[in-house]
This record gives sequence, structure tokens and C-alpha cells, in this order.
Amino acid sequence: MNILFLSHHAELGGGEISLLEFIKALDKNKFNPVAYTGCEGPLRERLGKLGIQAGILNLPEYFWSLKRDPSRKNPISSFVKTALIFNKLIAKIKYIITQDKIDIVCTNTIKSTCIGIPAARKAGVKSVWWLRDCLTEEFYGRFFLWFIKRMTRGADLVICTSETVRRDYLNLAGKDKTSKGKLVSNGVDLEEFRPNRRNEALRDRLAKREERIISLIGRLEPWKGQEIFIKAAEIALAKNPNLKFLIVGGPLFGREEYEDKLKSLIEELGLKEKVLLLGHRSDISDLMAVSDIIVHASYLPEPFGRDIIEAMACGKPLISTNIGGPREIITPETGILVEPNRPDILADEIIKLINDPAKMESLCKNGRKRAEDMFDIKKATKRIEEILLQV
Ligand code: UDP
Repeated sequence: MNILFLSHHAELGGGEISLLEFIKALDKNKFNPVAYTGCEGPLRERLGKLGIQAGILNLPEYFWSLKRDPSRKNPISSFVKTALIFNKLIAKIKYIITQDKIDIVCTNTIKSTCIGIPAARKAGVKSVWWLRDCLTEEFYGRFFLWFIKRMTRGADLVICTSETVRRDYLNLAGKDKTSKGKLVSNGVDLEEFRPNRRNEALRDRLAKREERIISLIGRLEPWKGQEIFIKAAEIALAKNPNLKFLIVGGPLFGREEYEDKLKSLIEELGLKEKVLLLGHRSDISDLMAVSDIIVHASYLPEPFGRDIIEAMACGKPLISTNIGGPREIITPETGILVEPNRPDILADEIIKLINDPAKMESLCKNGRKRAEDMFDIKKATKRIEEILLQV
């Protein structure tokens, strides 16, 4: 079966890493994956390394970045231009489907879904929307949500990565789509992310022996709560100076201004020695291994939260905000849930956990067990394979 995977950009966010992990584990005797991205970028390179044929759609920059379309000043010309681009892209994807003898189109981002589903319908093949976003006004404008609903109604199946994502999809698409929305969680490679990995050299580079390491791992994005994490660090350090805070993640999708803001905040609070901004890293399993606690501080509902399942697989204690995907993934036995936007509460929980080694140990053990039971990439891939064969 030939599957066409579509992404309108080529950055390496959680959705793209989940897709790569899935393609890596996919049974290549049954499935032949082909991929197209909107532009050049790390996702394309990683697909290439997996031996996957990956083409480029050459989309305009404002289509895949946060940069504004210059013609947006005039809403009518902007609308006409966007409609023309969409039509051209739908025709292009339809051509690829026919040329590559595609059986199923599987879209991995919202914009690629708005093109991929109409193209699949026109070409007479099935379409699966791998939905990894919360379709709410917290994240998107009203007009765009209306547009998404219109363009995606022909999807044969919608794989939702969490119950939160599924609920928001059904609220937008309508309850009559209930049978289309299937919940399948992302998976993690339990070999790469495993407990008791040691990397003393890395640990020594990042912190003093007596310091405990608390890390937040995720691309730099205001709603991911890096600012709250820094404020919590200040409060916690006043109670226990033997702590080190790591912020791991890059300014993907053009978030450089936010990165500058975080740097200024760290400087302003005099925390340069204690809070490190490490930028985007590709050694996450090692960074998790040297961390004592993983924090997830998103103040808007995280659609899934790969960092959470990776931390669980590594057997690391978690402190997370009590909303979105993380609230579904984390049980009282595997982590601590806190109110969003409350650096004071976050700091308190960090201090309490550091002072409670027995609790730390039980969270670690139970987290690994939950990752093995619920988030094994091999099991998740099998489920998706079954779904693709039945669609
Ligand atoms: N990640 C990474 N390098 C970084 C920061 C994050 O490889 O510097 C990975 C992280 O390990 C996780 C993913 O990016 O696998 C983030 O996924 P998540 O679902 O947390 O967030 P998203 O990017 O989808 O919003």
C-alpha cells in the first residue's frame, strides 16, 4: 500500500518527531511511505536518513512560517491570492497521487490537511487526517477554524492523538463525525528512552555535582510556559540554591523574539548561572537521563505532549500543568499535576519532590511501567497500521 504523508512545513516539532518514529517502525513489507513537505528543512533531512523518498511542495514562506503574507494588508486580494494558491496546490497533490499511485493520503499538519483531503477526493483515493492540534479559538482565529471545517469534511478518518484533540475536533466538525475520530496516542521508542542511562560527561558540563537538574523540554513558544518556568526557578532557588534549571528547545516557526525575551528575563532576575537556555537539541534522551525532574508548564491545553511520554519512558518524575494531553497521560502514580500559570505552586512542588526521594522513586518506576503499557511505539504503530488497512 502506497501512503503519501504530507506536512506543510519541515520543522521538527513533536508532530513531526511522532511521524518519523511511526515511519521508522512501520512494516515496510506492507506499506510504502512517500512524503512531501512544504519547504526544505530538518524533517526532510530526517526522512531522507530513514530512506524515505521526500519531495518538496515549494510553498511560499508565509505559508509555513509565522511571517505575514505581505498582501494581507488588503483582505480581498489576500483572500483571492490564498484561494488561488490552494487550488494550485490541490491540483499539484492530485498529480502526485496519480503519478506515485498513492492509495491513501495521510496529512500531518492542519494546512496540509486543507490541501490533502480535497486532493485525495478529487483523485478518488482515501484520506486520513492525523490530527495533532486542538482546534479551538485559543489557538486559531474564527475564520480559519471555519475554513478548516470546510476543507477537511471529506476526510475518511481522523486519528486524534488525545481525547482533548478528539473532543475539540468533534466540537468543530459536528457530533455526526464521531465514528470518524479515532483516538490513538503517540508512541515512544522504549529502547532509546530508557531508565538508568548515564552520561556523566554531559551532566558535569551542565551542572555541579551537588546540583539537582530540573528540565523543561519543548520548542520555545509563549504558551509552553518557559517564562513561568523561569519565574518558578527564581522562587525555588531562594529555598534551595542547589538546583539547576534547563530550558531545552529552539525558536521553531520564527519564535526568535520570544527567545530574546527569555534571555532578558533570565538576565533581569540574575539567573544566568542557574537557568540555561540550551537551544534546540537532538540528544533529548541524554538530557532526560541527566535530569532529576522534568517539568511541563504549558498554560494552554497541550494537544498531546511527547516530552511527557519520553520522560515516563526514561523513568523520570514529572510535574505538569493539569490541562490537555498531559492531564490524560499523567496519573497520580506517575506525576504531579499543578495549576497553569502559577510559578509559586510549581516552585513549591519542585522543592517538595526534591525533598521526598521515596516519592521520586515511585514516580520513576510507575512512569516507566505506564510508558511500556500505553505508549510503546511498536504497539502504537500496529494500531495505526490496522486502521490504515481498514480505512
Ligand atoms: N525536542 C527535541 N529537541 C529540543 C526540544 C524538543 O527534539 O530541543 C523534542 C521533544 O523531545 C519532543 C518534541 O520535540 O519529542 C516536542 O513534542 P511536544 O509534543 O512536547 O510538543 P510540540 O512540538 O508538538 O508542540
